[in-house]
Amino acid sequence: MTELTGQCLCGQVKFKASGDIAMQGNCHCTDCQQISGSAYATLLFMNKSDVEITGETKRFEHTVDSGNTLSKDFCPNCGSQMFGGNAARPDSMAIKAGCIDQKSEIKPQFNVYASSKIPCTLMDDSIPAFDKMPG
Ligand SMILES: [Zn+2]
Ligand SMILES: [Zn+2]
Repeated sequence: MTELTGQCLCGQVKFKASGDIAMQGNCHCTDCQQISGSAYATLLFMNKSDVEITGETKRFEHTVDSGNTLSKDFCPNCGSQMFGGNAARPDSMAIKAGCIDQKSEIKPQFNVYASSKIPCTLMDDSIPAFDKMPG
């Protein structure tokens, strides 16, 4: 059981989460690089019913290689990337690590899409790395 809080840069969007973190990891795919403007995205996955969001978010949806439709929710005022979703897993959502207050809870368990990582990105050899998304 983990309690998380967080917000976007301007503070308009806030969230509280209370539940188990199903998994967490770093994604080095090109989509995550482009939307985050950063080297990779760190995502913590929780049950949607365990996360309470206040404030207005805007959603961008896109279809990926697997055919799944993914969503990215962001603050329409400051543009902070807050949450991710996958239409194939409607009960689950991802919280972007950068907007979480409890930084000690951010402990990625794996790296995915290592094949498209930025060459200078340092990888933690103590956790598994997958070229794409594992099976
Ligand atoms: Zn904001
Ligand atoms: Zn990604």
